[in-house]
Amino acid sequence: LQELYPEDLLRYSEKLTEKEVDLLVKLREILETKLEPVIEEHWKNETFPFEEFKAITDLGLMNHPDLFEGREGEHKVSEYFNLFRLYELARTDTSLATFFAVHAGLGYTTLLQGGSPEQIAYYGPKFASFEMQTCFGLTEPDHGSDIAGGLATTAVKKGDTWVINGEKRWIGGAATADILPIFAKNPETNEILCFLVPGDSEGLSVEKIDGKIALRLVQNGHITLDHVKVKNEYRLPNITSFKDVSRILYTTRADVTHITSGTHAGSLKYALEYAKEREQFGRSITKFQLIQEKLARMEANTVTGIGLSYRLATLQAAGEFAEVPASVAKMQNARLLRETAALGREICGGNGITVEHKVAKFFGDAEAIYSYEGTHEINSLIIGRHLTGKGAFA
Ligand code: FAD
Repeated sequence: LQELYPEDLLRYSEKLTEKEVDLLVKLREILETKLEPVIEEHWKNETFPFEEFKAITDLGLMNHPDLFEGREGEHKVSEYFNLFRLYELARTDTSLATFFAVHAGLGYTTLLQGGSPEQIAYYGPKFASFEMQTCFGLTEPDHGSDIAGGLATTAVKKGDTWVINGEKRWIGGAATADILPIFAKNPETNEILCFLVPGDSEGLSVEKIDGKIALRLVQNGHITLDHVKVKNEYRLPNITSFKDVSRILYTTRADVTHITSGTHAGSLKYALEYAKEREQFGRSITKFQLIQEKLARMEANTVTGIGLSYRLATLQAAGEFAEVPASVAKMQNARLLRETAALGREICGGNGITVEHKVAKFFGDAEAIYSYEGTHEINSLIIGRHLTGKGAFA
């Protein structure tokens, strides 16, 4: 483990089982041999390496039998393995981890928390094997932070069919998803509902959002739903209010914390590699005290991040996970990541602003993490409400 994660100085990864470590070693090999060589090109072109990523989905990070030993009957891998699979992906590239988390976290959790036993039995294995790719359609062009009260997409029931109208924005993986969970309001009852909308539905169109300076590999979509019809059996029966939606959101806020921890580690890894190669004033820049101080701060931020992730995983495993701890961890880790990514960029000097030296990529990605799945401000308000007993959202 010390070879796999030398930055894990407080040894949180010791919690992993031997079989989990074996899979993470295989994942590392795929990342190094198949993904790393192509990421720069995909970053430039704003495309996703679907072909190479197939080696990762084939590895069985959601459904490998080794991950379910002693956990028979469960749908999800252990919380610690979830932490380190996202950490490992993000350590190479935050977009890869985000794409994976939208499917295996947001989309899959929506099915598990909202679906009927029959829906889970049908779609669960298909999502877990990536035979079907999913996503998470909540945010709208005019409603981001205020989506709870503002959700404008509507679903109206006609017989046994629902007619959905509206728009969704920023939806990761939407263009390639086979099944799109779409959240909509029933205007007659004001209930918030969720539908598993097939990607080839008539009236559904997805336009790729171009020109991002962060997470450039992730294909975020602007979705238009124009009288999309779905049968009632596509509705997830256990989602009827925004409370149900926010339960999914804070569950997956742990995933964002893990991705953030991995992004700290990636920034440190590539900055350290660069520092070891670079000479100035006739010596390696690693011999300068100011460089060592930056590296030390990056290391400290990384273990702080893993510590936050680890604690969330422990609470999840104990069934004691809740909204406020998730907000504290996500907010603090994303805030620290801005510093880590900036330090990594500084260490690489002028080269730090080129994609080739990788740290610039993390520098941009840190900004997306800061704002997605609950912005810094919204998480602050969740914590503030807990501390003061007063909601200050509006
Ligand atoms: P706004 O809500 O317009 O906020 C603008 C600013 O105002 C922010 O700084 C915000 O914090 C601040 N603000 C808002 N309200 C308050 C307040 N009451 N007090 C103080 N400050 C406030 N969504 C999905 O549904 N599915 C996805 O797969 C998905 N993927 C994403 C991927 C990326 C790369 C990004 C950038 C976003 C993604 N999102 C996704 C959407 C994301 O969750 C939203 O961007 C986020 O919730 C913020 O909404 P907004 O961008 O509309 O910002």
